[in-house]
Amino acid sequence: MEIVLYPHPALRWKSRPVKEIDAALHKTVGEMFDLMYEHKGIGLAANQVALPYRLFVLNLTGEADQKQEEMVFINPEILKRKGTVEGEEGCLSFPKLYAPVKRAAEIVVEAFDLEGNVFEYELDDLASRAVQHECDHLDGVLFIDRLAEAVRREHQPMIADFEAAFRKRQAEGELPSDESLKQELKRREPK
Ligand code: ZN
Repeated sequence: MEIVLYPHPALRWKSRPVKEIDAALHKTVGEMFDLMYEHKGIGLAANQVALPYRLFVLNLTGEADQKQEEMVFINPEILKRKGTVEGEEGCLSFPKLYAPVKRAAEIVVEAFDLEGNVFEYELDDLASRAVQHECDHLDGVLFIDRLAEAVRREHQPMIADFEAAFRKRQAEGELPSDESLKQELKRREPK
């Protein structure tokens, strides 16, 4: 398992609902947390490890020893959004790119946990922002899509660099073509 970088097609994939919470899924979630800590993130969506599942992990402390802060959101739905607030965001699929993004200030989110129990949270601040960012991933939406036009223009050279680096790796045969990556995503969709 590894974190895929923009513009890997998994990042534009609309993920499918998880149907079964089994041992394999528990193992996947554990590996996602490990990768997230390794890369100093606070959230990681399944899309970012090229798995087309509606699932993400979160630990707002970003600390591997703060296990009690770990949260797993399976098949999440944002039920309510209130207010607007702007804040800086980054994404493990865009290393070193940070930009201000407008999000709902408060949300109500519903999801299943790893035990298959449904839960509902009312969130604000960083938790609200992180959950909205990760839920977007599951629909193939990226934070660069939500930048104000001037901000997007400012960061366009760096975004173009990510694209060029990815295409170069494909041209050199280090990465499969978009077509084969998409076939692999299709194959991995929950049945
Ligand atoms: Zn992200």
